[in-house]
Amino acid sequence: MNLERLEQTWRELNQIGYSDKGVMRLAYTPQERQAVRRLAAMCEARGMSVRMDASGNLIARREGQQPHLPAVASGSHLDAVFEGGSYDGIIGVVAAFEAICSLDDQGIVTKHPIEIICFACEESSRFGVSTVGSKAMIGELDIDGVAGLTDRDGKTFRDALSECSLNGWPLTEAARAADDLKVFLEMHIEQGPVLENADIQVGIVHGIAAPTRLQVRIQGKASHTGTTPMDQRQDAFLAAAEIGLILEAAALAEKEHGTVGTVGVCVVKPGAMNVVPDTAELKIDIRGTHVSSKTTVLNKLYAGFRQVEAKRGVKVEWTMLSAEQPVLLSEEVTQSLEESCQALGVSYLKMASGAGHDAMNMARRWPTGLIFVPSRDGVSHHREEYTSWEQIGVGASLLEAEIKKWAVVLEADGRPKYEDNERTQPEQMGESA
Ligand SMILES: [Zn+2]
Repeated sequence: MNLERLEQTWRELNQIGYSDKGVMRLAYTPQERQAVRRLAAMCEARGMSVRMDASGNLIARREGQQPHLPAVASGSHLDAVFEGGSYDGIIGVVAAFEAICSLDDQGIVTKHPIEIICFACEESSRFGVSTVGSKAMIGELDIDGVAGLTDRDGKTFRDALSECSLNGWPLTEAARAADDLKVFLEMHIEQGPVLENADIQVGIVHGIAAPTRLQVRIQGKASHTGTTPMDQRQDAFLAAAEIGLILEAAALAEKEHGTVGTVGVCVVKPGAMNVVPDTAELKIDIRGTHVSSKTTVLNKLYAGFRQVEAKRGVKVEWTMLSAEQPVLLSEEVTQSLEESCQALGVSYLKMASGAGHDAMNMARRWPTGLIFVPSRDGVSHHREEYTSWEQIGVGASLLEAEIKKWAVVLEADGRPKYEDNERTQPEQMGESA
């Protein structure tokens, strides 16, 4: 692995859309597409075959000695949130590209083909829908659902795609067969403070937490702040505050399972200094990889709604906005990554991801591994996002070692260089217990 070249590749791609305010490479915009085309040209210059699928995923392939075998794939995304950071997504793409360069340097032939996949529209910033490319690749994109979504300028998803002169509808063509890939490996920034605080080099993700989201409406009674005695109020804000604390206590009690709960939105009405609030609307996000732990938090919250109603004379109504199942990543890949860390002398932590990634979708179809590198102060989706080149280099070395294992490096006589990391059957992937 050549860290200087890796940084150079990153610089070349990241300058597209870069500004002092942050990176502007929203999905399917000219900047994002330009970056993807630049990457495609880099891959072609290395003799890789390059194609774009109907959803805008770029797939660059380094042929293996046995081209009919399933490919070892690695990648991430080049799109960014509005005024985003310089590391989210892009470093996973750059690390996969560097692994290819490094194999070329070493004149390595692998038994399996290797693919770099640059996913389209991973971020939800433009159309409110995330990981579009990987959903399309596993054939689980709600195509009718996304077609009419609009961005802040009123442009539809469908129009945005045709402006990119993508192959056009139908997106079903992006779906790939189960035997196309052997494994998918993604490197990504952690986007949280855990690795930095523990002074650990990489995270090996065993599961990706899925959000359960609720919208809660509390109906109290508006009254005059000066004339309504404290014990005769139906204050919607205080009820909301109490619900927030109930959620905090419930999630704290599940700390060992890593379940987290957040009230991210609280709108209090009528919003006047001299009126006791009569309504409060909350948006609540609960995440975890442990299904029963998440359920425990949710049930405590529901019970809390009834307690608050009884105590404060308010009415609490809620709607479930989403309740996705957490995804567990392949144990075989996770274990293989641990062994690679041990062989390389890299410190690692097995951890859950609180954020969604393309790996989450890929794991539903193929054995999948996700490597985290530390994020300074846990900052992400912001221009202050930062990971040092040394830290990125450690992750990229691990990725390269892992790609070599799965792709099976061959000696000059065509025999596997070391024990063949072969499996006959993809293991059962699925929801967590
Ligand atoms: Zn990302």
